[in-house]
Amino acid sequence: PVHPVFQFLSDTAEKFPEQTALRSEDQTYTYRQLKDQVDRWSKALADLGLQKGERVAVMFPNCPEYVISYYAVLQAGGIVVQTNPLYTENELAYIFQDSGTGWVISSFEHLEKLSRVREETDLRKLLLFGESSDPTHESGFIHDAGKLIASTPPSPPNIGIDPQQDVAVLQYTGGTTGRSKGVMLTHYNVVANAYQSFQFSSPVLQIPGEVLLGTSPLYHVYGMTSCMNVAVLIGGTMILLPKFDKDEVIEIIGKHRPTLFLGVPTMYISLLHHPKSAEVDMSSLKLCFCGSAPMPVEVIRLFEEKTGARIVEGYGLSEASPVTHRNPAVGLRKPGSIGIPFPNTEARIVDLETGTRDLAHGQAGELLVRGPQVMKGYWNNEEDTRSALRDGWLYTGDIAMMDEDGYFYIVGRKKEMIITGGFNVYPKEVEEVLYQHPGVQEVAVIGIPDSYRGEAVKAFIVPKPGAVITEQELMDFCRDQLAAYKRPRSVEFRDSLPKTAVGKILKRRLVEQERCNTK
Ligand code: ATP
Repeated sequence: PVHPVFQFLSDTAEKFPEQTALRSEDQTYTYRQLKDQVDRWSKALADLGLQKGERVAVMFPNCPEYVISYYAVLQAGGIVVQTNPLYTENELAYIFQDSGTGWVISSFEHLEKLSRVREETDLRKLLLFGESSDPTHESGFIHDAGKLIASTPPSPPNIGIDPQQDVAVLQYTGGTTGRSKGVMLTHYNVVANAYQSFQFSSPVLQIPGEVLLGTSPLYHVYGMTSCMNVAVLIGGTMILLPKFDKDEVIEIIGKHRPTLFLGVPTMYISLLHHPKSAEVDMSSLKLCFCGSAPMPVEVIRLFEEKTGARIVEGYGLSEASPVTHRNPAVGLRKPGSIGIPFPNTEARIVDLETGTRDLAHGQAGELLVRGPQVMKGYWNNEEDTRSALRDGWLYTGDIAMMDEDGYFYIVGRKKEMIITGGFNVYPKEVEEVLYQHPGVQEVAVIGIPDSYRGEAVKAFIVPKPGAVITEQELMDFCRDQLAAYKRPRSVEFRDSLPKTAVGKILKRRLVEQERCNTK
């Protein structure tokens, strides 16, 4: 179906008005109440003069204000600029400048930071929720969002949206490997991906009635589509947690009995090793979605043993709204694989040299995808758009292969491939081996400069609580399972590893630290 993103909410509010839409620590909203808030807020934004196509940063952790503002901005014709509230002033200034953001919706606690960012950007309006410490707002610049919503009637503006052309969301890439770019996702892209996701799992979904616990941030594309938009599409209840706190997540699973869980591998790992995971009843979990980074097969096995849920690993990237592949909810699932392409999604594997020659089953090359969820391009960046989008195919920058059954496997990222003594090593393969060691909780493998081999393999290890492991022991462990050139040349033990906002291991940080240490 081709329609604007906010239509999901209108349809569901009409069909299931009394169904609980959102549940946060201290608030719940039914779909009727959520729609009412969105209608008031979008009318208020229009009354303040929001123009179609204006970029509006929506900057919250997971909370009802985020959800309300997201749909309201879209309904008022604005473009949502997804913004991590923990960003520093520099990071905010970069995103606001690059996107030409003029309006920010956030909370009063960020007033000081945003006021400083104003000096370097074109910010014209701050619309803030919560308690204001200074009620004498500078006229025209700072607005009390809560008061505006309360004093505006629920009569939304009727803005003509062309779903296939009009950009709904600017999603800045995670920057795991480099400078962050603004991905333009149209209304159609976002709507398509929510429908694809629903269609793919529909045999096991109940409408309404699913309870979704998505612990990834909604300002990231994975949470936005796979949790929020899917929940609203199927009339599900979304449990909102402002951050991933493993104690709280375990408690919520026991108390609110979610049926669907969305997480990234590091979250599954920390839940698995949580001391309370044996006591809490996690049997309400039916399907657990996992993506964003490689999921160690060993973790899938242990987590399923503990909960009885089915983990389905998938794959995606900001440029594809984000999901393109997933293991099916029923039928053949292959641990270690990212599954098969979503409905209406084509995928190819091409050789790295030409980028055009298709490879046979079992051969690794760059993964290309094409489908309705693939972005319109990068904001104000034709050069990168041209290299990422060719003939409608998105060049993902990931190296993958396909087996005879049409299941895909991510081998590694082009940018993270380690070249040591002329051989290619993919960190994922080495990490998979290290995860099998009983004392290992978390692993990251990177390439470090080596005067003899060009690069050498290095492993960073977080041991399980109480486990004592030595470097030698790990080296011996790898000796049986990896060819000599793939084995780590050095091992460093850490209490924790740096992570991105979504919880991915931030390898770029490890690489930088390594570079500083060797200088
Ligand atoms: P940047 O692209 O700026 O470096 P990022 O990697 O965080 O940042 P995202 O769009 O958030 O950008 O993430 C997409 C990437 O995540 C994919 O290109 C892929 O490398 C990785 N990824 C996603 N799902 C999986 C998976 N199941 N297995 C392995 N890698 C995955």
